[in-house]
Amino acid sequence: MSNCVITVSPEILNEMITHYKPTFCSQHPPGSVFVAKSPGCTITAYKSGKVLFQGKDTENEVRKWETTIKRNPTNHSPNKSLIRKQKIKFEPPENIGELSIIGSDEVGTGDYFGPMTVVAAYVPIDKIALLKQLGVKDSKALNDNHITAIAKEIIPLIPHSLLILRNEKYNDLEKNGMNQGKMKAELHNQAIQHVIHKLEPSDHVDGILIDQFCEPGVFFNYLKGKEISWMNENVYFSTKAESVHIAVAAASIIARYAFITEFENLSNKAGFVLPKGAGMKVDEAAAKLIRKYGEKSLFEFTKIHFANTEKARNLSKSQN
Ligand code: MG
Repeated sequence: MSNCVITVSPEILNEMITHYKPTFCSQHPPGSVFVAKSPGCTITAYKSGKVLFQGKDTENEVRKWETTIKRNPTNHSPNKSLIRKQKIKFEPPENIGELSIIGSDEVGTGDYFGPMTVVAAYVPIDKIALLKQLGVKDSKALNDNHITAIAKEIIPLIPHSLLILRNEKYNDLEKNGMNQGKMKAELHNQAIQHVIHKLEPSDHVDGILIDQFCEPGVFFNYLKGKEISWMNENVYFSTKAESVHIAVAAASIIARYAFITEFENLSNKAGFVLPKGAGMKVDEAAAKLIRKYGEKSLFEFTKIHFANTEKARNLSKSQN
């Protein structure tokens, strides 16, 4: 699985058109000449002469053209660097904004109270404009009311999978030695798998974009021994992926909406409004919980391994 971009002369681009014509896809992104699909590779050629290869057979596919280009030196572009291999596995391609993508993101990892929520969502090219119209963008730029309103609109529109890891389960896993990174990786894996299962045969996926919380190598290391059914797709990682493709922004909004809802339920259970984050207000609220319901209650309300637990314990004693 890799990507490669080469720049070719107009003559070679014409040769490519002839060569790939039988495998042309009916739709292609703006600015492109064609999109073709060979069994292990998607080829997108642009008017600029850039040709993007994506898929597990990228290397073989590109090699075919290396020979052609070398045999026809007059066809070289002026700087003679006709082939610019970008062996940047996992880096999203330039045209990702024009692709149909499954995006995944998580919420709640830094909050002492409340669950961790992970969502993977599928956004095909033809729904991108609609989601933009509905206000889907980086969830960090939206307040809770906006998030809720937008989430309610997009939930029926896009195939997605929402996973909620509530505090009891989280604390159990953590106590048994699982770190938060591994929990996240496992939930992303599951959510992506669930979304793929929900797709219709006609739903075309160009790639999977994961909002990067650790290096891809570490991510796949966390999943060692697990089934990763989507490994043969084009997989991309990016930090701030919400602004790379709207599928991640949509996933993030749904994940945050679920987090907000769960958080409100927890506040109702506590009998007072729980604060978000992991700052001093959180310590005080946790101390209040200890005084009201005993320290055991933290297991249900919090990510107990956070340093806030110790601070809350001390606070609750000092105020007794
Ligand atoms: Mg994220």
